[in-house]
Amino acid sequence: MLIPQEAETIILNLVQPIQETETIALKNANHRILAQTVESALDFPYWDNSAMDGYAVQYEDVKNCSQDNSIILEIIEDIPAGKKPQKALQSGQASRIFTGAMLPEGADTIVIQENTQRKDDQVVIFSPPKQAQDFVRHRGTFYQAGEALLQPGVKIKAPEIAVLATAQCNQLTVYRRPKVAIFSTGDELITPEQSLQAGQIIDSNQYALMALIESWGGMPISLGIVPDQPEFLKETMQQAITTSDLVLSTGGVSVGDYDYVEKLLEELGGIISIRSVAVKPGKPLTVAKFANNCLYFGIPGNPVSALVSCWRFVRPAFKKLSGLSHNWTPNFIKVVTTETLRSDGKRETYCWGQLEIVDGVYQFHLAKGSQNSANLINLALTNALAIIPIGTTLINAGEIVEVMQVS
Ligand code: AMP
Ligand code: MG
Repeated sequence: MLIPQEAETIILNLVQPIQETETIALKNANHRILAQTVESALDFPYWDNSAMDGYAVQYEDVKNCSQDNSIILEIIEDIPAGKKPQKALQSGQASRIFTGAMLPEGADTIVIQENTQRKDDQVVIFSPPKQAQDFVRHRGTFYQAGEALLQPGVKIKAPEIAVLATAQCNQLTVYRRPKVAIFSTGDELITPEQSLQAGQIIDSNQYALMALIESWGGMPISLGIVPDQPEFLKETMQQAITTSDLVLSTGGVSVGDYDYVEKLLEELGGIISIRSVAVKPGKPLTVAKFANNCLYFGIPGNPVSALVSCWRFVRPAFKKLSGLSHNWTPNFIKVVTTETLRSDGKRETYCWGQLEIVDGVYQFHLAKGSQNSANLINLALTNALAIIPIGTTLINAGEIVEVMQVS
């Protein structure tokens, strides 16, 4: 059986990132993946400006002043932020200036307000600037027009939006969002709206996986519940494969009499690369690739297994598919566990719970109640999975454990 790292490598090698792009407005760009190198036609700062409230002066005029030898300059204008200076400064003159305002021609230094005293149209300066250019932010010191500002493969979030707005990049080319078909298989399944009859099970996977894909920035396509009947299943699988980049079906991948997914994937021309992975929960994972590049994940039906499989194996595939240039694999961090963690040591075991910061230090808290994969209820509030490696059966409370953050 494959170990998780091997499965992850196989999966990532199967993924062909989306190439198609679309042009969108900056205000719609949150969470999208940039498909172009962005550059601006503007320098940043756009022009020389003042870093402080004070007076724009010529350094030569004020460099030798002191408490006992103050210098008096004539104020020729007020320059608030946003106003273009109207007058060029000569020796013996100062312009009142405010933070962010454009430096007037002829000035080379800012004297901060605290080192001055205003008297009508004059300003007394009693402490010299440290050096010429003090408190001047020069045009283009942070960025020069035409340089690459952001690279393709970057996920656009608030900081990137700030940069793009400043650079007046109002239209952006981004990769189209991955289309992800999702359906649940099983004769026993009903929707949450239907009334529960004896023996039935409510389909939670469809809802959970739709939410997951939406939160990752994909376009989930719900194909509903499909009964364990090969002809119906094959039809839905065919529809999913031809219309999506990624298919997530849950159920029907174990060794039960009604588990048809693997056989049908082969009939439909899929090349199966993974049939199971040494993880708990989530062992019976099937991964197949189709000629049209569609990647099919046959995920175990058990709701805890389904989510763990998605977090551990579908997420990296989704990230690479979406055009992200790096950081596809999960983040593993080492933290202290507050509870003892147990495993049979045969498969890599994922214990669900919460990563919390206590007194400034991360801790892993095991979800209260049973860590049985049939216990869906205590999965709520999970934001991390603690990992017990193959061969380890016990990690005591207070010891370090490797944790994978999930979302
Ligand atoms: P399977 O992988 O099809 O053998 O299903 C394993 C277990 O998960 C069974 O108890 C199923 O009833 C349950 N199950 C399968 N699909 C779902 C689903 N979509 N939502 C909730 N439970 C499910
Ligand atoms: Mg089933």
